[in-house]
Amino acid sequence: MNGLPAATLAQLEAAGVEFGRPLLISDADEVLFRFVETFVDHIEERGYSFDWSSFRLTGNVRRTSDGAVLDQPQVFALLQTFFAERAEDIPPVPGAAEALGRLARIGVQIVVLTNIPAAQRDARRVALARNRMPYPVVVNSGDKGPAAAWLAARAGAPAVFIDDGPNNHVSVKQAAPGIACLHFVATERLAGLVDMPAAADGRPATWPALEHAIAASLGLTCGGR
Ligand SMILES: [Mg+2]
Repeated sequence: MNGLPAATLAQLEAAGVEFGRPLLISDADEVLFRFVETFVDHIEERGYSFDWSSFRLTGNVRRTSDGAVLDQPQVFALLQTFFAERAEDIPPVPGAAEALGRLARIGVQIVVLTNIPAAQRDARRVALARNRMPYPVVVNSGDKGPAAAWLAARAGAPAVFIDDGPNNHVSVKQAAPGIACLHFVATERLAGLVDMPAAADGRPATWPALEHAIAASLGLTCGGR
């Protein structure tokens, strides 16, 4: 058993991954979308601030009026509201759409594997399409390893996984050691707060470098530098 919930399995099937073609499995927030800056703007408008002291949300969000640090349920509630209100208009990371387009043109199949709340799946798909990234979206919950392993097995070809979250690299390497894992954090200020996880195979700093590393991981050559 792969432990995947039925709702996730249905989306994985619907992603239409073809056998024998190289596969890119990409996270969305902080890889394709400028999540953190947008989230921080959102909470600042509501009387909260972000500390930028570590690579996590919980512990870094404060109520401006009294400096109180929000606990996990409170941060989770802010995140739910943020995605409900903003999922469709989080700005894209510059260069991502162009790089993905070049990779797609040389035969790479692309699936976006995101942990956005399930209610925002359509909003995320709309936002990706609007920003010239019209790729299949799979909404996952928790560890990404089982879903990534399922996709890579379906492709039966070289596969690469990109994510800003260290835990997701641990999960993917554990579930499918053959998937190349690239750690990427789009926002420089956030990137400075997290080291490359040991489970990852590389940590490109920019989309051009990431594009090059993706292609190299898949045994291809492509635009980047
Ligand atoms: Mg992310």
